[in-house]
Amino acid sequence: MNTTNPLSNKRTLITGGSKGIGRAIALAFSHAGAAVALSSRTLADAQIVAGEIIAAGGQAIPFACDVTELEQIAAMRTALLEQWGGVDILVNNAGIAGSHKFLGHPDELWHQILNVNLNGLYYVTKAFVPEMVEKKWGRIINIASVSSKVGAKYVAAYTASKHGVLGLTRALAVELTPHITVNAICPGYVDTPMTDTAIKNMTTRTQMTPEQARAFLEKTNPQGRLIEPDEVAAVALLLASDSARGITGQAINVDGGAVMF
Ligand code: NDP
Repeated sequence: MNTTNPLSNKRTLITGGSKGIGRAIALAFSHAGAAVALSSRTLADAQIVAGEIIAAGGQAIPFACDVTELEQIAAMRTALLEQWGGVDILVNNAGIAGSHKFLGHPDELWHQILNVNLNGLYYVTKAFVPEMVEKKWGRIINIASVSSKVGAKYVAAYTASKHGVLGLTRALAVELTPHITVNAICPGYVDTPMTDTAIKNMTTRTQMTPEQARAFLEKTNPQGRLIEPDEVAAVALLLASDSARGITGQAINVDGGAVMF
């Protein structure tokens, strides 16, 4: 194995690669030698990350692609087939969060979260898996959550979507074996724009200050802190590598020990 550039000659796609966890994975994969395609709905944000990668001597292509829009996924697939002939490693990271009491839960919120977090992941995977099957090599890494394993108050839609992601991960791990591995990473609260929004929502819905809201989220981790995006990227890098070929159908927690199964 090339230990300096373990992902050299690998073509990767990271959805939601413009911010937070996706951005950290994009930078880590590029540092490991991979060519990185990264997508988000906002092209300008994806371009900034691609620019960082290119400035550091890496290879990156930014895409505007909403994972719920089949035409946009098809266009991204066509472009990547033309430029690279497909991708070897797919990181399904794009996701949204939202919370509401179950009593009076807005149907629109339910459909929106399920559509991005679960349907979107299904659509993108379906689009990019054929070339992996043909090539007899592939890695699919789904950014799930501790909400894939446990329930919590006021997050029914998010929890259902992330449990669904884990179910799909396990089903595909069995169906796509032996050449393609499919795994999930299950972070606790990570220090990203998504968590900033959660903190903001807590301050508007409760009496908490932003500091109190942040401290509340930190306490959900037995280590008393938020996880850094780089810590999730490090696990993604391991799962993407050739040496992780024996790891499939797994759901690896990165949560400071909050959840122990
Ligand atoms: P951020 O909100 O910080 O970033 C989300 C990324 O996804 C952005 O690039 C965003 O760009 C993109 N995105 C959102 N919706 C869509 C869409 N419909 N189509 C394409 N891209 C989209 O999130 P995080 O980095 O915090 O989270 C990344 C993943 O990790 C998510 O799946 C999340 O559920 C999961 N996770 C996060 C945790 C946390 O505490 N932050 C904990 C556990 C799991 P744009 O808006 O321009 O589309």
